[in-house]
Amino acid sequence: MKIKKPDERMYVCEVDTAYQTNSGIEYRWKKVDVELTANTDRARCAYCAGSVKFHRKQKANGTADHVEHRSRQDSENCMGGHYFKGEHRRSQNPVE
Ligand SMILES: [Zn+2]
Repeated sequence: MKIKKPDERMYVCEVDTAYQTNSGIEYRWKKVDVELTANTDRARCAYCAGSVKFHRKQKANGTADHVEHRSRQDSENCMGGHYFKGEHRRSQNPVE
């Protein structure tokens, strides 16, 4: 099995998604491919629930669409983070 580098994990994120249920509309976090998702403020890291921002591919052979942690602290403490230090934990300021 190919081990994913931390940065590659950020090709997915979670988006607050509306579901129709018997008791009405309910919102739940859904894991999605960043590439297939429109930019939204209601997105969070799939691993630490930290706030993320969208980055879109700039050129043909450039970095694929992905999200990045807004907070350096989240990035250091999340297994998907660019600056991951090795100990994963949930964001101190999770997007709920
Ligand atoms: Zn994270």
